[in-house]
Amino acid sequence: MPETDVHQVQLSPDGRTFAVQPGETVLGAALRQGVRLNYGCLHGNCSSCKYLLLDGDVDFGIASPYSLPPGEREEGWALLCCATPLCDLEIQSSLVQDPRMLPDLVPEERSSEVAGVEHLGGDLWRLRLELDRPLEFYAGQYVQLGVPGTEDDWRAYSISSPPSRQPVAEFVAKRIEGGRFSGQIDRLEAGTPMRVRGPYGIGYLRAGDDPVLLVAGGSGIAPILSILEHAAESGDRREFRFFFGARIPEEVVLAAEIDAIGRRLPGLEFLPAVEHPGDSGWEGDTGRVTKAIQRHLHDASPYDVYLCGNPPMCDSASLLLEAKGVREGRIFFDRFFAAV
Ligand SMILES: Cc1cc2nc3c(=O)[nH]c(=O)nc-3n(C[C@H](O)[C@H](O)[C@H](O)COP(=O)(O)OP(=O)(O)OC[C@H]3O[C@@H](n4cnc5c(N)ncnc54)[C@H](O)[C@@H]3O)c2cc1C
Repeated sequence: MPETDVHQVQLSPDGRTFAVQPGETVLGAALRQGVRLNYGCLHGNCSSCKYLLLDGDVDFGIASPYSLPPGEREEGWALLCCATPLCDLEIQSSLVQDPRMLPDLVPEERSSEVAGVEHLGGDLWRLRLELDRPLEFYAGQYVQLGVPGTEDDWRAYSISSPPSRQPVAEFVAKRIEGGRFSGQIDRLEAGTPMRVRGPYGIGYLRAGDDPVLLVAGGSGIAPILSILEHAAESGDRREFRFFFGARIPEEVVLAAEIDAIGRRLPGLEFLPAVEHPGDSGWEGDTGRVTKAIQRHLHDASPYDVYLCGNPPMCDSASLLLEAKGVREGRIFFDRFFAAV
């Protein structure tokens, strides 16, 4: 039976409360009302929004059995991005502690039209949308895009353009054969309507004086591009070292744009590495991005770190950077989990 009642959620011990409307997830309701919680992929895969229920029951929704095994469900754990309350809830929560977080932006929905699609190289494509009106976001955040032709199927994509370029928003998408969204990207025509909702994500650029280390693989370049462009526009004087891992030379994309940003962001150093150079004549670093980090970075302790791309890459890079001394709380993730 679908829920028809509004339920109250109390976060303990900090005492914050909010209401969840019928059909809403606990996290969706929290974000709508500006209540700060940890979260990541919004699709029940990444576990960032795993919280302990102290009282009450939920429908666990689409939580994956890998991220929330049956034993954990019995103990009372839930993934709040897909849990809907069956009664009033009390949830154990500690406040997200990062004094450099910016005020939370409440996600909103926008209509948009496809303004253009461009093949960048390999499996990587750029999608340009024109929104009906600007959507406030921070450089490094993502939105959900409605899969064309569906009622309520959404996919997460990081915005690759800076906030200042509104109402245009750009994305770098990896084309996945058979993917409901990206599988049709090469056939998207200008003028195709597309729903956009967001912004989401807490891995946006923090202010500060410390040098910045950016690590991305493949389409993980998207939020980094937004961060770099925003930093250039705002006259950021920090050092930005950008390690980019590409599978093949054709996927070292947007190098000319990064070069152009570098002319306005003097602290930028771009370090691309290619895993499979073949006989392309590629003269840069070869192997995985972690190999390039191992070769060029001796001490990670001074840095704020932004990691974007597929989850195994993010996990191995974070392990390596921890071994190289990165300080606690200084790694900000954007793990590109698949929606299904
Ligand atoms: C916070 C966040 C930000 C993201 N930002 C971006 C971004 O900027 N650019 C981008 O390209 N992607 C990004 N992603 C990943 C993207 O949302 C997923 O890859 C999504 O599933 C693609 O949807 P689809 O409809 O094309 O494929 P689906 O229909 O969802 O999947 C089709 C098949 O492909 C598999 N699959 C899905 N994604 C991948 C993948 N990345 N690699 C290998 N197999 C996969 C699925 O498991 C499934 O079997 C992001 C994900 C998250 C959580």
